[in-house]
Amino acid sequence: MRKYLLLLSLLLLTACGGRRTPVSLAVIGITCSRSSSGATQLATTYTEAIQRAGGVAVVLPTLDSYARAEELLDALDGIVFSGGEDVSPQWYGEEIWNETVHVDAVRDYSDSLLAKAALASGKPILAICRGEQLMNVVMGGSLYQDLPTQFGTEVKHGGGATHLIGLEPGSVLAEIYGTDSLSVNSFHHQGVKALAPGVRATAHTADGLVEAYENEQLWAVQFHPEKDLQAGDTRWLRLFEAFVARCQP
Ligand code: MN
Repeated sequence: MRKYLLLLSLLLLTACGGRRTPVSLAVIGITCSRSSSGATQLATTYTEAIQRAGGVAVVLPTLDSYARAEELLDALDGIVFSGGEDVSPQWYGEEIWNETVHVDAVRDYSDSLLAKAALASGKPILAICRGEQLMNVVMGGSLYQDLPTQFGTEVKHGGGATHLIGLEPGSVLAEIYGTDSLSVNSFHHQGVKALAPGVRATAHTADGLVEAYENEQLWAVQFHPEKDLQAGDTRWLRLFEAFVARCQP
């Protein structure tokens, strides 16, 4: 009798195992900002975008050691560098330009550790807004600290404006959308000045500002696709699906 019960248990276990999905899902970490009280903080737009695209979204803590960043990257299949504060200009050898520049030194340090560990891991990176600026700085580029006073442009950037970007042929965005221009949102007052070595600019506004760059590992966009996706602009699901597919273990 005992023998039959064991056999039955084995059969049940096998049956249950058979119902589990055979494909392991991509686990994608997302960097966070900190609230004024020090709490980890992330808009639901990011986690929702990754989840809708079929990935497992993981909210990443603030770190203070490179070893910890490496351990985290080992556990992930890809990483998203999210938006938020300005990157401290000290990281590219400048003083703060004016009162519009707001930085969080703790997040800058944590993000720089994660960025270096992510680049070293070879795993796919999606960088959005601050993330796009951060990756450029970590890789050796620089930023306009305040576009209105340092860049002088006829294009309205920031404040939730909408503007067109022109796409480079063969770029990730051009391939996904099969077009040479896209309408995107704009929530930034900083932007890429000197582009870092090892990436190519793949989208610009009419004023020449870089709105996207990429290489084999990293896709970076100055706009917020996740924000418009949550607001109902389903175009952007395709970008997140393409990223999640690249992260597939
Ligand atoms: Mn813009």
